Amino acid sequence: VARIEDLSTPCLLLRRQVLAANCARMATRMDGLGVALRPHMKTAKSAAVAALATRGQDRPITVSTLAEAAYFLDAGFDDITYAVGIIPQKLAAAAELQGRGARLTMITDNLEGVTALSEEAARLGASFDFLIEIDCGAGRAGLPPASPAVLELGRRLQDAPGLSLKGVLTHAGHSYGCRSSEEVVAVAEEERSGAVQAAEALRAAGLPAPVVSVGSTPTALHAARLHGVTEMRPGVYMLGDLDQMALGSCSLEEIAAGVLARVIGHNRQAGHLLIDAGGLALSKDLSANRFLDNVGYGRLCDRSFTPLTERLYLAEAHQEHGMVKAPGGAPPPFERYPLGSEVVVLPNHICMTAAAYDGYHVVNGAGEVEDFWPRATGW
Ligand code: PLP
Repeated sequence: VARIEDLSTPCLLLRRQVLAANCARMATRMDGLGVALRPHMKTAKSAAVAALATRGQDRPITVSTLAEAAYFLDAGFDDITYAVGIIPQKLAAAAELQGRGARLTMITDNLEGVTALSEEAARLGASFDFLIEIDCGAGRAGLPPASPAVLELGRRLQDAPGLSLKGVLTHAGHSYGCRSSEEVVAVAEEERSGAVQAAEALRAAGLPAPVVSVGSTPTALHAARLHGVTEMRPGVYMLGDLDQMALGSCSLEEIAAGVLARVIGHNRQAGHLLIDAGGLALSKDLSANRFLDNVGYGRLCDRSFTPLTERLYLAEAHQEHGMVKAPGGAPPPFERYPLGSEVVVLPNHICMTAAAYDGYHVVNGAGEVEDFWPRATGW
């Protein structure tokens, strides 16, 4: 057991008990709603976290890169959905993973791309399972649920040598724009009904659509019903962050990860403290600022994740400097934070922040560092 004071900063802390509770809460909720949980590991990128998140399931997961897929396959997770549109150039890597035992599912929304995907599959002597990506309102990628292109793409996938259709997938990214839990409930219903509508249209045309995959953290936590859905893919809920807190997806106590940093300077003239966590240590994501004041690039806690009474926050972030201010322009209490003082910064968006680190220093309830859990990196 190591001590927090022995860690070099900045580094990423992960509260094991909070993480375990977040994972159990989601698994129980999905059981209650009668759908499988296929957690999205894009946030945590850790096999130890995936083991907690998939408790009691047949260990299906979602990933956002083929590097993650390779990492999780090596850790024994072989049922993997790669939930980012695939291109022919990436199929050789996918085939290599399948050769090592992965059961991969990929997604596309591109009619014109099917021929090239099929030709590449033939060249590789491989075959691939596909879900059609549906846009249920987020506007990022996917076909509208009622579009005739869904059927056309379904037919082309099913007819193309080396490719087969398994169903549909959608992600309600627009849940992040909601202002109330009622709005999230409504977006969750859009997500559900859009995916189910597309799957039913495929089935009515005689095409296979056994998989109806939906999910985001806000919709997974707020959906009132999931009839017709087969699986949910939330990811951020495992760790939590200020944006999820602002959206009502978690409380402050349920945030499991934060950046341990130390005070490296006092700028009394300008009225800020300096810490060794800046833009590279936290990312420049500002998402929670659309709902909350005095967030900036993150809010400060003590090393047991208790918010500081002075409500200090990271007002500016340079590459390796974080400038810490108090609300309303009050000078921070410099004497309470001598050089080397430890703070934990809760980030806006943990997916972006965690990407800067090789792994998590896992802390227990007593604040002891119990373990180091590596993260998958690269693409
Ligand atoms: N599915 C897809 C396709 C995603 O892109 C994401 C996140 O971006 C998720 C699921 C997980 O949602 P969340 O990040 O809200 O947990």
